[in-house]
Amino acid sequence: MTVQGVLRNPFYIGIYRYNYRDEAKTKGNAGHEYKSESDWIIVENHHEPIIEREQWERVSSILTNNRRIIGNGKTYNRGNVHLFSGLVRCGYCGSIMGANHDKKRSNGYKPSLYLCTRKRRFNDCPNKYISDVSLGPFAFNYIANMIKASNSFGVSTSIETLEKKLLRGKALSKVEHIEGVGLQELYDALKRSKSENKNYELPVTETSVSDKHSQELDLLLSEKRRSERALDRLQTLYLYGEDSIGEKDYVLERSRIVSEIETINKRISELDKIHKTNFSLSDDEFLEKASYFIISQQLSDKREISFETFAKNIDNRTARNFLTSIVQNFCIKNGKVESIRFKNGMEHRFLYKS
Ligand SMILES: [Zn+2]
Repeated sequence: MTVQGVLRNPFYIGIYRYNYRDEAKTKGNAGHEYKSESDWIIVENHHEPIIEREQWERVSSILTNNRRIIGNGKTYNRGNVHLFSGLVRCGYCGSIMGANHDKKRSNGYKPSLYLCTRKRRFNDCPNKYISDVSLGPFAFNYIANMIKASNSFGVSTSIETLEKKLLRGKALSKVEHIEGVGLQELYDALKRSKSENKNYELPVTETSVSDKHSQELDLLLSEKRRSERALDRLQTLYLYGEDSIGEKDYVLERSRIVSEIETINKRISELDKIHKTNFSLSDDEFLEKASYFIISQQLSDKREISFETFAKNIDNRTARNFLTSIVQNFCIKNGKVESIRFKNGMEHRFLYKS
């Protein structure tokens, strides 16, 4: 289950739904097919909620709003968040580059610019500033290329082809090469995940443990229901059945099913406990994960990202959440991106055409 699935699944607030998957249609498909909503069976207060209902609703509504914003492209609320604040480092002295407002463009767009804090204080660093106007297109097109390149990666893809795909588009046209070490690292990772038949995930915060748990919980709950139905049937058979079963058989079978249900309940409460600690995320952490899925979807849909259109349609907070979920920092030298360090330690350095 994806993080977005987790965020949208009412299971986490104590609602259990079943009879919603269409197993017949799902067969052979990668995803799940669902029955029409009128066939679903929804049990409210089925189990103790794993996250607060209020938080779940807040996050769901933010997700829905983001979808709407992306959909009609009308909202233009950038707020006061600088898109790259805290994410830009000086390529000369290693200081953080602080954010300021760049001048407002004629179409109303208000970019930020970033300047080495050491230069600002002591004026002894030769670095120049960089603006959202040039950093934005570079960063988002590069990440979009990474997502697309990993989606289209095949066993026979060469490292040269991968590099070409990563550098596609106008925003990256001044880069001649990606330094070998970082490129090789991504190439090997893609190759590995391809041979293991998995999708390569960008270095976004991992949730695999809780994903596994939620799958196990789903399974346990359906087993539990099955056992409960079996118990009902057994009872009916014993009390009203025509060739009624003997009392001894009934007692034996009954105690077998009851102990099965007890085992399931024990495991469910164990998993609930683990989940409680895993899911005590703040809204910000939630949003960081949600933003990742929303934006990566957007980025992989388009051939080339027009950064200005992109920046207009999505609020800075969501976009910044997306960046911080995969990027450690951008290293800037003379108005150019020298390197990107990712959350998993991988670093891509760019060699420019002279
Ligand atoms: Zn500096």
